Amino acid sequence: MEDIEYEYLKSNLRNYLESHGINTSRMFRCINPNHNDSNASMKYYDDNKVYCFGCGETYNLFDCIAILENVDNKEAFKRALQYYKTGQTLRTIKEFTKEKNKENNQKEKDYSRAYKIWTKNLDKEKSAKNYLFNRKIDEKTAKRFNLGYNEFNFGDKTLKAIIIPISKNGFTARNIDTSNNELRYYKTKGHHTDIFNKEALYNDKPFCFITEGEFDCLSLESVGANAIALGSVSNLSKFKNLELNKKKIYITAFDNDEAGEKATEDIIKFFKQNKIKYLTYNSVDYKDVNEALVKDEENFKFCIENIVKRAMKKVNEEEMS
Ligand SMILES: [Zn+2]
Repeated sequence: MEDIEYEYLKSNLRNYLESHGINTSRMFRCINPNHNDSNASMKYYDDNKVYCFGCGETYNLFDCIAILENVDNKEAFKRALQYYKTGQTLRTIKEFTKEKNKENNQKEKDYSRAYKIWTKNLDKEKSAKNYLFNRKIDEKTAKRFNLGYNEFNFGDKTLKAIIIPISKNGFTARNIDTSNNELRYYKTKGHHTDIFNKEALYNDKPFCFITEGEFDCLSLESVGANAIALGSVSNLSKFKNLELNKKKIYITAFDNDEAGEKATEDIIKFFKQNKIKYLTYNSVDYKDVNEALVKDEENFKFCIENIVKRAMKKVNEEEMS
């Protein structure tokens, strides 16, 4: 089984949770049997994981099957294949375990050549260009970030996706086919998933926005602001472990939902503890940064300019004192 097929299998997590009566569009009670969660601390994320803001656990499809059906990991994988097999030949559990082990010390895949092909694909694919146009990601920004387009085949299913390279070893693929609503994103796995546009943390710009999704980051970059996207919830802790430039002002710009609020609280606590300067941006009437841009570009630019001014004022004050 290819990495990509394995990821596709994992992408059934939302479907699986829904089939267990869990509404994944809102926060729900943590499924960790050791966490007596009284206030819906768990959240489903588009990187095919659930994350608990209470106990900090992250689970993928196999973990969830293991917990909810009370079976071990091998059995959970077997069941995942039974429920969602992708039309490929079933592998034996032995092969799976062997691969899982290999995965940990395997040489990272290099997608550089694929990216070249995928960016060319984007030039030719009208639906993909339209998709970007509708999300107000202009051509210049698309080129600067090497966005591409590709179709992946999984047995009888096809995923048509905008490719967002994160590094040469990993990318995010955003489904653009509205008739396929099983999967919105898939990401190359685990250790390949890094923070998107990490350079923004180390360039000489005096501020940096921190967003959740790649499209939020691209939205800010398209109006000239400096931004990163965490992409995955597990990258929140990765971010905290980075050697951060303390001269920079960090501007949180998480999604306008309960999980976004919790992530904001969490990161502010971290900034305060480490005496790091920050500001918070909220997309107010919109669910996230990209929606704010799409629905009202003028106002979005105005708000961003404003917060950047506030950041610059903070920098200047610092220099005076
Ligand atoms: Zn929990």
